[in-house]
Amino acid sequence: MKSFVYQATPSRVVFAAGAVEHLPREIEWLGARRALVLSTPQQEALATNISQRLGQLSVGIYPRAVMHVPIEVARKARDEAARLGADCVVAAGGGSTVGLGKAIALESGLPILAIPTTYAGSEMTPIYGLTEAGLKKTGRDRRVLPRVVIYDPLLTIDLPVAMSITSGFNAIAHAAEALYAENANPITGMMAEEGIRALTHGMTEVANNPGDLDGRSDCLYGAWLCGAVLGSTSMALHHKLCHVLGGTWNLPHAETHTAILPHALACNYAAAPEAMARIERAMKTSNAAGGIFDLAKQLGASVSLREIGMKQDDLDRAASLVMEAPYYNPRPTTRATIRGLLDDAFFGRRP
Ligand code: NAD
Repeated sequence: MKSFVYQATPSRVVFAAGAVEHLPREIEWLGARRALVLSTPQQEALATNISQRLGQLSVGIYPRAVMHVPIEVARKARDEAARLGADCVVAAGGGSTVGLGKAIALESGLPILAIPTTYAGSEMTPIYGLTEAGLKKTGRDRRVLPRVVIYDPLLTIDLPVAMSITSGFNAIAHAAEALYAENANPITGMMAEEGIRALTHGMTEVANNPGDLDGRSDCLYGAWLCGAVLGSTSMALHHKLCHVLGGTWNLPHAETHTAILPHALACNYAAAPEAMARIERAMKTSNAAGGIFDLAKQLGASVSLREIGMKQDDLDRAASLVMEAPYYNPRPTTRATIRGLLDDAFFGRRP
């Protein structure tokens, strides 16, 4: 066996249909008494409901989270948390809301209790992102790792099917890259394979019947595992491509992951045979790249960058930006390889 370092991400996880009922108990477990509840404007009703459940343990709601955490939004939320004397934040929503919680925690050190309602997996990582002057910067800091995560599949029943599917592929992308990460290890390998298996099964169930609680539970369980492996391994070419496309052209996050993943896997296929074999076993497919592409199409997701707002004229610049500060990748890449990959993803060609 190769030698390795495994960094656990020590969160307390409470997983059950109806688990949100345990919220007051979990706030008390944190030793907190003054929770500020965060959400996006679209999920304000959820934030209000959670604040009501908390009663005197809540100091109010802040329903202003937006995607990619603009620094101005982060500053206002930090000020509000300080003004209200909050001693913890409850982030109820997807990666954007968890991201706002992380921006508060990064400066104040306040503990985060996350209640994820998508499958993005951010709640299990010490990775934060902040956008300033049109540039998204990411970093790692243990202060931003949520201390408690409440996974309640009932809260994801209303996540629209299209978003459920792309969000699921976002999570699968974390696991796929963890399998061939520079610091991959046997523990993250097991979690990644199980996460991909659970999501593949869960997404198919959800596409057939969005109200299916077992399917929703499988997706959320898979999201947990995939998020956890993202949190303890480093990212590679796929995430680099998505960060460039999302940060510079503001393409939708989960949709970008869905369109890029088959091509990133095709690019790395020969260089990471063990990882590909594990993805294939988890998905019951004979080719990891083609299997991901086919499943995305079958579940109704967009598989081309042009469908989600990318312009063909910008592909040259995107390839240059990826090459400017490349991440580790199992297959060393050239600009021509990246440009070809982007072309395939732009037109949605089956790898
Ligand atoms: P999101 O949080 O932006 O949510 C998208 C929309 O769906 C929002 O309007 C939200 O309110 C709504 N929504 C969420 N859950 C819902 C539900 N159950 N029912 C109805 N509507 C619901 O989307 P996302 O894909 O979860 O997060 C994307 C962001 O997360 C990006 O900024 C990305 O960079 C970040 N992210 C970070 C990490 C990390 O480790 N730091 C990991 C993954 C994603």
